[in-house]
Amino acid sequence: GSTVEVDPGVEIDEEIAEDDLLGGLQIDSSDDITVPDRLVDQVIGQDEARDTIIKAAKQRRHVMMIGSPGTGKSMLAKAMSQLLPEEDLQDVLIYHNPDDENEPKVRTVPAGKGRQIVDVHKEEANKRNRTRTILMWVIIAAIILYTILSASSIILGLLAAGVVWLIFRTLRQGTDTIVPNMLVDNGEQRTAPFEDATGAHAGALLGDVRHDPFQSGGMGTPSHERVESGSIHKSNKGVLFLDEMNTLDIPTQQKLMTAIQEGEFSITGQSERSSGAMVQTEPVPCDFVMVAAGNLDAMENMHPALRSRIKGYGYEVYMDDTIEDTPEMRRKYARFVAQEVERDGRLPPFDREAVEELLLEARRRSGRKNHLTLLFRNLGGLVRVAGDIARAEDRDFTTRDDVLQAKDRSRSIEQQLADDYIERRKDYELEVTDDGAVGRVNGLAVMGEDSGIMLPVMAEIAPSQGGGEVIATGKLKEMAEESVQNVSAIIKKFSDVDLSEKDIHIQFVQAGDGGVDGDSASITVATAVISALEDIPVDQSVAMTGSLSVRGDVLPVGGVTHKIEAAAKAGCTTVIIPKSNEQDVMIEDEYAEMIEIVPCDNISEVLAVALVGRPETDSLVDRLKSITDSAFDQPVGS
Ligand code: ADP
Repeated sequence: GSTVEVDPGVEIDEEIAEDDLLGGLQIDSSDDITVPDRLVDQVIGQDEARDTIIKAAKQRRHVMMIGSPGTGKSMLAKAMSQLLPEEDLQDVLIYHNPDDENEPKVRTVPAGKGRQIVDVHKEEANKRNRTRTILMWVIIAAIILYTILSASSIILGLLAAGVVWLIFRTLRQGTDTIVPNMLVDNGEQRTAPFEDATGAHAGALLGDVRHDPFQSGGMGTPSHERVESGSIHKSNKGVLFLDEMNTLDIPTQQKLMTAIQEGEFSITGQSERSSGAMVQTEPVPCDFVMVAAGNLDAMENMHPALRSRIKGYGYEVYMDDTIEDTPEMRRKYARFVAQEVERDGRLPPFDREAVEELLLEARRRSGRKNHLTLLFRNLGGLVRVAGDIARAEDRDFTTRDDVLQAKDRSRSIEQQLADDYIERRKDYELEVTDDGAVGRVNGLAVMGEDSGIMLPVMAEIAPSQGGGEVIATGKLKEMAEESVQNVSAIIKKFSDVDLSEKDIHIQFVQAGDGGVDGDSASITVATAVISALEDIPVDQSVAMTGSLSVRGDVLPVGGVTHKIEAAAKAGCTTVIIPKSNEQDVMIEDEYAEMIEIVPCDNISEVLAVALVGRPETDSLVDRLKSITDSAFDQPVGS
């Protein structure tokens, strides 16, 4: 298929490729890598989308791309425009219509011809004007002379001259109308046009006719000169790219659909009360290929007819968020750095270590075992910030240090919030201590996409008045109830305490209400509950994340890397993660030295690490072990 690797222009050492961070690429800096000329060859990953646009360009079909921002949708649309044939590009001219001032005429000519025509007309108009002007002044002079001589009145002479001047002025207006308005100019265009109409208002998309306050009485600008093209006309024979389709209002989507169906669309004034609304041109060609894009939500607000139009006459593709981490792919990521450096034009090239660090970051951000993130816009942002740091210091190369510093600077809002929150917590002396505390566990959560945060959980057991309730506050109530339910199935088997006679209060310390993902805290809740129930303290230098099954298994969760980093930042010395997440850990070296990572498979292992006070813990863990082991053979809840 399309996965042929574009020649990177440097030697590849296949022997070390498998383990090498840059897939065996023998480079000293990003400067050694050749950046392919064609945009389509610069696209990394997204094989399916790439194949689709190549195919769609050949067949001139519409394409809909659905996926996360910054994965290359507009890049692919632009690449598609470079693949379309360019020989049939056209210029569009708007002419005055002598029969109906309000219906300007439209003429299409081969690209480059338009400018010539306009120039010829201008030249002619100028010539006529010149002759007329000379004629005018001769006549005016004659009249003044004549009246002064015959009537000996200067006033009368000037008056007559004024009348003549006015007549000429009005006539001259007439000569303006012969020069056509160059609506679409493809004279300089080397490839088929690409128009990004994302977020465009109706006028910018569909064309407009400017308002003219003097339009009546022949004093104003002729209507054909006030006509402005829209993106649909500028993208004639090329690509019209529309991201966030759903932000277009329905009437505009309807008009867009008409434009697609007809391949031509008249231009009229978009604001109803303007004089432009009286003007409507003959149809103007708009034979574009549409690339519509958006995330899944966007598709819901799309006019169904428009959607089915694209579906019926084109392709729909999904964009990937991650891609498998192979040597070839890593080489492409190195090329990505070279591409972004070249695109920016001012950044110092990245030295080898800097490129490697960026690759590690791509791994980290994927949040998936053996994968790399395809959210390239953010990654490109990191390249630019790092490069800017090096440039500010006038260095020849961007280094690993710059990348690390850039990461710190380009923290997302969520990360800044989380850091701020850790700072604030220090003020409240909520920081980590070496002591144990009964019923209190350091949980870990992810805010936004890429920000870990430590989130202590407290559990307290009290005799119940009623049937034994789980009392939790805030959004996490549901999650708390579920984890308690799971853990109570386990507790029932080893403890005499009847949970149905107890109220369990669960509190998430300073959880706030911002996007904390709950599911992954269930071993935290379980540990807190067991600690409270058995009155065994929890080691406060331990943090944990993991989901709990009814059988006591610790199940994998998302964002482990960010969580571990958050735990290290908060000062924890041990962090418990699900064993099945072990491969997802991609923490930076600086954190690796700060914290010990303990992968656990079962809640008994979690407790063995987290609880302090030896004899009690050991016996509890033993009891738990025996029941959770045997639980494998028994149907749950029996
Ligand atoms: P989208 O339209 O999906 O939001 P863009 O195409 O605007 O994303 O991507 C922004 C920038 O990120 C691009 O200009 C390019 O520099 C880089 N980029 C995005 N996706 C890719 C990709 N698949 N391969 C290489 N570079 C990419």
